[in-house]
Amino acid sequence: MTKRAFLELVSGLVGWPALAPLAAWAQGERLTNWAGNLEYGTAKLHAARSLDDVREFVRKQSKLKVLGTRHCFNTIADSAHGFLWLGELGEVVALDSAARTVTVGAGMRYGQLCPYLHEKGFALHNLASLPHIGIAGACSTATHGSGEKNGNLATAVSALELVNASGDLVKLSRQGGGEDFEGAVVGLGALGVITRITLDLRPTFTMRQYVYQDLPLSALKDHFDAIESSAYSVSLFTDWQKQRLNEVWIKDRVEQERPFDAPPEFFGAKRATRNLHPIAELSAENCTEQMGVAGPWYERLPHFRMGFTPSAGKELQSEYFVPRPHALEAILAVERMRDQVTPHLMISEIRTIAADRLWMSPCYKQPCVALHFTWKQDWPAVRALLPVIERELAPFKARPHWGKLFTLSPSRLRSLYERLPDFTRLSRTHDPQGKFRNAFLNRNIFGA
Ligand SMILES: Cc1cc2nc3c(=O)[nH]c(=O)nc-3n(C[C@H](O)[C@H](O)[C@H](O)COP(=O)(O)OP(=O)(O)OC[C@H]3O[C@@H](n4cnc5c(N)ncnc54)[C@H](O)[C@@H]3O)c2cc1C
Repeated sequence: MTKRAFLELVSGLVGWPALAPLAAWAQGERLTNWAGNLEYGTAKLHAARSLDDVREFVRKQSKLKVLGTRHCFNTIADSAHGFLWLGELGEVVALDSAARTVTVGAGMRYGQLCPYLHEKGFALHNLASLPHIGIAGACSTATHGSGEKNGNLATAVSALELVNASGDLVKLSRQGGGEDFEGAVVGLGALGVITRITLDLRPTFTMRQYVYQDLPLSALKDHFDAIESSAYSVSLFTDWQKQRLNEVWIKDRVEQERPFDAPPEFFGAKRATRNLHPIAELSAENCTEQMGVAGPWYERLPHFRMGFTPSAGKELQSEYFVPRPHALEAILAVERMRDQVTPHLMISEIRTIAADRLWMSPCYKQPCVALHFTWKQDWPAVRALLPVIERELAPFKARPHWGKLFTLSPSRLRSLYERLPDFTRLSRTHDPQGKFRNAFLNRNIFGA
């Protein structure tokens, strides 16, 4: 596709601010990730128009990466050779009401799919902090939300179609794919081009969101389990200062036996009297409705609203998954580093994620707590700090988020994934010559 044709295409997709950098690229500017901290190694991008187009393109290239919605902060999606973009293949393929599944084209974003599902009477089990991201990229990197009983977003995947390095279409499913399916879902973009994804559904539900301010750290120490299990999804935000957690976001389902009753005080924290942004100084206009106003699941599970800039914008992010039994120890280890961390921090978020069976998921066979850092966009400072944090979290076998910034050595990273040998074998089955491997995958996964 020529840049002119591409520009015509994206200009038709108004209301998708995340596409703005792609439109800028089409007008001759640099091709960068969402946060702008990374300029990709090439500006060559082919926008696929059909499955046949994907297959033909893959056959012809010796090296390529699929570019999703560009929300990764590290180079996992980067290419020195060329990108394939599936944004045009973002349609609902089939809604199976009886089986409670939906199959979508891999260019679909959560923000596009969710209102459709709700209208049809269905819901997904969970969402990330933002609905702007593509489903394929999110699942490929084990993107997660929060909730003691909620697995990451990839746990909803029940089938995948992907084009392998030969250009052949491979179909994998939970029912038919056995172990290899569990290896392919969090595939890190290493197995091929995902063209369709099938997701598990549940009946649609209504939620309420409440925010509490200033939870004493002592209350967290004494009541961590009770706080985390108080609602369907709980997020704690902190700048690690003043022995308190700045905000507690509680997202609860309305139609359940014992809904969250929203007392004025929650373990010493006070119920907020207006909508808040996780970074209290920023406008809450970007945020989903709070104050207990009931609304559909997809307008309460994410923190940020579709059509608005999520988070802060110009930022960096890192996140570490710690096995749930070590949650408090890990939180307190970071708290002890507060005076090193806070100067470079916008906000931290603490979430819980249920265990799963996906080989490359940080929550493989272990429920986790995720310690997230939204940093000011100062990479030299953050790069100097990350090894300090990683050293403190090492006793807990902390695993970094696949799409965020980390400095862990490749050998250490590989040692944290017991199914990594199986994953590299599976990748080589679909991509023997490493067509879909880039420098990130070679270094961190394949040890090349
Ligand atoms: C503001 C912000 C908020 C965020 N909040 C959260 C959060 O709440 N929870 C969380 O866990 N993460 C969060 N993230 C991280 C984000 O969810 C992940 O980085 C995710 O991978 C983004 O998907 P993407 O398609 O935008 O990524 P990209 O960088 O475009 O791609 C990610 C990977 O997926 C591969 N890929 C994409 N599409 C395909 C396909 N069709 N076939 C094969 N491979 C494919 C790419 O090659 C790459 O390896 C956040 C990021 C930002 C910027």
